[in-house]
Amino acid sequence: MAQSYEVNVGTSSLKKAGRNALTRDTIIQLGGLRIGGPDVVVIAGPCAVENNDQLLTTAKAVRSSGATILRGGAYKPRSSPYSFQGLEKEGLELLREVSKLTGMPVITEIMDTRQVELVSEYADILQIGSRNMHNTSLLKEVGRSSKPVMIKRGMAATIEEFLLAAEYVMAYGNDRVILCERGIRTFEPSTRNTLDLSAVPMIKHLTHLPVIVDPSHGTGHWWMVPALAKAAVAVGADGIMVEVHYKPEEAMSDGAQSLTPDYFAVMMEELDKIAGAIGKKIAASDLTFAE
Ligand code: PEP
Ligand code: MN
Repeated sequence: MAQSYEVNVGTSSLKKAGRNALTRDTIIQLGGLRIGGPDVVVIAGPCAVENNDQLLTTAKAVRSSGATILRGGAYKPRSSPYSFQGLEKEGLELLREVSKLTGMPVITEIMDTRQVELVSEYADILQIGSRNMHNTSLLKEVGRSSKPVMIKRGMAATIEEFLLAAEYVMAYGNDRVILCERGIRTFEPSTRNTLDLSAVPMIKHLTHLPVIVDPSHGTGHWWMVPALAKAAVAVGADGIMVEVHYKPEEAMSDGAQSLTPDYFAVMMEELDKIAGAIGKKIAASDLTFAE
């Protein structure tokens, strides 16, 4: 008996992002690195760029453990207007500098249409945060950009809405879209969000786009991050994005969910084994690592 593959998602609007739009999976090439290819890409770095020492120390540490893309927010979407809002342009400059020193491409959040031009000068991947997944003006603007875009799932977004955000970017001319599952709001208060790992095979079923999982925002607890990162790889994610801070207790944002470089190194060894078990490996980069 033939089994059905139908799901309750309106796929007819997914003219570009939908599985039927392309016979192969989308692979996003960044130098020698391939996102959505056969290997697992690891994006790591601090929640926010705080200063040169913090960023460089953390970047070198995660690079030496096998991370290939550096994350760090220069514009931070904080819940309170009185919390640290990010170093803005100075943060972008630090990201670029550390990128040159470590050979790692960088991803950073863009919060406003007015920032697209500036952030594009410094970043290799533009990140659309959870709070802006529904911001169609911003999606259109990054759709006109030549940089790859990673969209994080809105905290109360359905998978259909999430995929339509990708469709927006693609409809405006940018095919290089990555989706990031980062947890959704549920009735459960013990974790910051409920990490929806079932979204990974569902998105893979419905689209040809790469999927990254963020277990840091997905759980809110550093000690849960390795377990969920491993589960993400096992469930078929193309990569993970993890927050790492050299001194989590002093972090200006999200210290509670940030791994130390030492714990990150241990996690990477475990992750490699999980990847191996499903015929993958941690993606390596041919970019040279300058000490
Ligand atoms: C982040 O990754 O820096 C971030 C703010 O995450 P989110 O948009 O998922 O809350
Ligand atoms: Mn964060």
